Amino acid sequence: MEKIPKALAFDLDGTLAPSKSHLETDMATMISALLNFFPIAVVSGASKEQFQLQFLKYLPQENTNLSNLYVFPQNGASLEVYKEGKWIVQYEENFSENEANKIISILKQVEIDFNLKETWINSLRYGHKIENRGAQVTFSALGQKAPLELKEKWDRNQEIRKKIKAFIDPLLPECEVRIGGTTSIDITKKGQNKAFAINKFMELLVIDKKVEKIEKNQLFFYGDALYPGGNDEIVKETGVVCEMVSNPQDTINHLRAILQSYEEDKRYSTVG
Ligand SMILES: [Mg+2]
Repeated sequence: MEKIPKALAFDLDGTLAPSKSHLETDMATMISALLNFFPIAVVSGASKEQFQLQFLKYLPQENTNLSNLYVFPQNGASLEVYKEGKWIVQYEENFSENEANKIISILKQVEIDFNLKETWINSLRYGHKIENRGAQVTFSALGQKAPLELKEKWDRNQEIRKKIKAFIDPLLPECEVRIGGTTSIDITKKGQNKAFAINKFMELLVIDKKVEKIEKNQLFFYGDALYPGGNDEIVKETGVVCEMVSNPQDTINHLRAILQSYEEDKRYSTVG
């Protein structure tokens, strides 16, 4: 029997929902069912607004125990929890105006040096490239709204973004510079990353009395990019159980097994 966790944590893009797309019905139903038994954290580079559009909006509005859900947008640089009928910001490590301006001017230099100033594709431009999300500044090389098939072709092996990161790193020693998604570079304050979010979640589980205590091997994290260099890899540093999935369907299969073990375990313990 699969070991039973006390809490679950997930990446969003490619793990719970298809990249940049919304949660599908079977996953929404599964998450809603799991929230009855487990506190759940979702950690993503997405902004708060994207979280609403991609994830929260698609959960069943009735009978979903939202108070068991911890939402970490901006790679864990902020946390939203559901209290008394609405989502509230529990913390947010926002950049000051000076810090944000410094990052933005470096990214403008990246646009020039890497010939990304004007990316017209089929005579279309695809929205802003530099977005200040508060606690995270995101650079999207082709524009935020570029179609996924174009984004996927652009830097498949991450070679271009590795060079951009190598350019930015020495200029921003106070920040974490990460390759995210298909065309983006995410910048947060140093120490603000998915591992920070997972550690925070472990702490809050006890503080919020969701569990009396929890060991690292009782928290399961699922991500599609736990491979070396992937944007979930850092979670391994926390020592929690990390399961790599290939897509949302694969995640669902794992979760069915967990739900089944949980229910069997409950049945046995009830029988005696
Ligand atoms: Mg992912």
